[in-house]
Amino acid sequence: MTQTATAQTHSFQTEVKQLLQLMIHSLYSNKEVFLRELISNGSDACDRLRFAALTDAGLMEDGETLGLKVSVDKNEKTVTISDNGIGMTSDEVVENIGTIARSGTRQFMEALSGDAANDANLIGQFGVGFYSAFLVAHRVELTTRHASAGAEGGVRWISDGEGEYTIESITREERGTTITLYLRDEDKEFAEDFRLRGIISRYSDHISLPIEMPSEDKEKKGDWEPVNNGSALWSRPKNEVSEEDYHRFYQSLSYDTETPLATLHNRVEGNLEYTSLFFIPKKAPFDLWDREQRHGINLYVRRIFIMDDAKYLMPSYLRFVRGVVDAADLPLNVSREFLQNNKDIDRIRSASVKKILSELSRLAEKEPDTYAAFWKEFGKVLKEGVVEDHDNRTVLADLMRFNSTRSDDTDQTESLAAYFKRMPMKQKAIYYITADSHNAASTSPHLEIFRKNDVEVLLLSDPVDEWLVSSLNEYKDKPLKSVAKGALDLEDLTSPEDKKANEEKEKDLAGLTEKMQSLLGERVKSVRVSQRLTDSPACLVADETDLGGNLERILQAMGQDAPDAKPIMEINPDHPLIRQLNPEHAQLEDWSRVLFDQAALSEGAPLPEPAAYVQRVNDLLTKAALTAH
Ligand code: ADP
Ligand code: MG
Repeated sequence: MTQTATAQTHSFQTEVKQLLQLMIHSLYSNKEVFLRELISNGSDACDRLRFAALTDAGLMEDGETLGLKVSVDKNEKTVTISDNGIGMTSDEVVENIGTIARSGTRQFMEALSGDAANDANLIGQFGVGFYSAFLVAHRVELTTRHASAGAEGGVRWISDGEGEYTIESITREERGTTITLYLRDEDKEFAEDFRLRGIISRYSDHISLPIEMPSEDKEKKGDWEPVNNGSALWSRPKNEVSEEDYHRFYQSLSYDTETPLATLHNRVEGNLEYTSLFFIPKKAPFDLWDREQRHGINLYVRRIFIMDDAKYLMPSYLRFVRGVVDAADLPLNVSREFLQNNKDIDRIRSASVKKILSELSRLAEKEPDTYAAFWKEFGKVLKEGVVEDHDNRTVLADLMRFNSTRSDDTDQTESLAAYFKRMPMKQKAIYYITADSHNAASTSPHLEIFRKNDVEVLLLSDPVDEWLVSSLNEYKDKPLKSVAKGALDLEDLTSPEDKKANEEKEKDLAGLTEKMQSLLGERVKSVRVSQRLTDSPACLVADETDLGGNLERILQAMGQDAPDAKPIMEINPDHPLIRQLNPEHAQLEDWSRVLFDQAALSEGAPLPEPAAYVQRVNDLLTKAALTAH
């Protein structure tokens, strides 16, 4: 290698510096992961070359055999890892190695826990693996040449990890990347051949490219020999794969320190042949809610890697599933666009979804505790399925778990099936309430009549619940009905006598409701006598076809236009406060406003004029205090 231009010195982004420091401090007891990360990068680079060469065969002109080589120099105390993958241009080196463009960095630093085993996995999850080289090296030298560049297009990058790096153009005959680590004194154990072999078989055995090291056999001095097993795990028959093999493979995919909750390995034969290996994790990844998260399913065609994060293979509500699909009959040069409209992919996807859902159903039935733990982590995501996946809605509905008035437990444990089973014959609907918190739902005045009559109501407080109930209109022919919307048809709850008495009260209070309605004016659609309340004086109800206050607030918080539908105010005819009001009451306007504001507060809505509310309450309290004397 000769130098063709003077080296330029650059500073790392501040974040990179911090990252290096933090990483060294938190991972000192798990340094060996550096090798896993660098091998994984080399293997990715080979995969990317193979894929790019499908449309540009010239990229392979240096040779089609792809692989990695690892060697040590005991005297110099160096470890060298090279690959003949796609390599990098000078711009790419600056962009990929000198900067951390991804949003993950800050989160990574925040997520570092001080537990080395856990933190070592974070490196991979957050895409900062390259920097793990500095766990053991005081100086890292990387040379690379992109497969599309000529020999003059080589680049050398050197850094001591202290804040600066130099970069210069060089001549490099072969495409690919070579990384030499100059080990710190205290890390010279890694300059031992056998030590590296151990790490490779532990972390990188499943890598399907050959990872070679110089032969230890004196006779074969100068030869390279593969040190990894190298067969794609999913292509082996199930009975030849041990539990431990599965777990190691899962960990290499997910960087999860835990074992998976479930492993599903399937070979499908017939006119569409493919193998799938899916894992359901125990814990949600840190970026489950990040739109740009990049996991998902890796797609292979006949064991050749095509792409990771193949979104078309798994719907978004199953985005926590990890694994591999290896399809026998797809063309090798598939593009993302191709996948989007491909019938075979659709069939693989739909069969995969069914497999996963039926495993979840099995867990729900046979291992309720395991399912409960799963639900805690992923329930909110799975709820999206009811909204998105029309074909599997029935199965998904049975997988849902909710809170209900039946118990004070804040964990979501009640299924629709169990609710249905408990319903008395005459009950016509499955009742629910939505609110922005469990507490707001369970203390809502709307529940009073239901609690009094011992009718179970589902308490829904995840934002996605609003969409869920608007997609799931019924369960086993029983409609799902909000207790806070429309008029209550309480025939299934109240006796004919009560019903009659209610009609009487409506007549008696007609003058009052009319007057209150005119005093509240634009704030309400109407004021009417309630059948829902036993303890509270008033509550707000949405019209049957309106969105309801909770959904309106969610939409507004999301920055969307929500129609600002006016609520209906219902008053409790038996409440002492209401009973002392009449259309001629001198302070009826103040009372109406206070009752209205309180009803809004009790459903968690913010008051537009809190000061005016407080003032009115104080006025009324003062009057009451004075008359009490
Ligand atoms: P990640 O692999 O998760 O993207 P890394 O920090 O390990 O994060 O690597 C950063 C980037 O540097 C890679 O995405 C890749 O673009 C580039 N890179 C690293 N090693 C190599 C290599 N051996 N060959 C080509 N590109 C590489
Ligand atoms: Mg990497």
